[in-house]
Amino acid sequence: MNKSEALPSAVFIGIGANIGPVSKNFARALANIEKYARVLALSSLYESDPVGPQDQPKFTNAVIKVETRLSPFKLLLLLQTIEKEIGREKTVLWGPRVIDLDIIFYGDLIINTDSLVIPHPKAHERRFVMEPLLEIEPTAWHPAKKMAIRDICAQLKDSQMILKTDFPRF
Ligand code: AMP
Repeated sequence: MNKSEALPSAVFIGIGANIGPVSKNFARALANIEKYARVLALSSLYESDPVGPQDQPKFTNAVIKVETRLSPFKLLLLLQTIEKEIGREKTVLWGPRVIDLDIIFYGDLIINTDSLVIPHPKAHERRFVMEPLLEIEPTAWHPAKKMAIRDICAQLKDSQMILKTDFPRF
């Protein structure tokens, strides 16, 4: 099988926001992603306290599973374009944001470059990524940590999250 015949990879994308019309921005991000990828699963929306500065609204997070033929770098560019369209400006590290889109896993690829690290380097430390991922992919496996997501979740010590609602669509 040559490269052009390769099957599309299953990719997990993390979505987060804590200011602006959060539900609307999640729906907008999804609608844009759907133009370039087939969405296979959507987690619920989860709410959690902010990491870093506490004087900002709670965060809402979710994970979606997609199938795409975009390369990891093209996908990163797409996500950054969507972030800009929705109105995200570069602000404080861990500060408020109208939308944040991260590539969590791209199949079982491991990538370590200046602009792109896959698996996302913080994902395994964050309950707000691991729990939604587990919801939609109970058998998910972390290809770099070589651990089941179920086991990573069981070891997490960060604070609990509140299950909020279904993933919004227009
Ligand atoms: P953030 O503030 O979380 O949106 O981080 C954005 C920066 O992280 C961008 O400059 C990306 O190039 C970089 N980055 C590295 N790995 C990833 C990844 N897996 N997903 C999204 N952004 C990434």
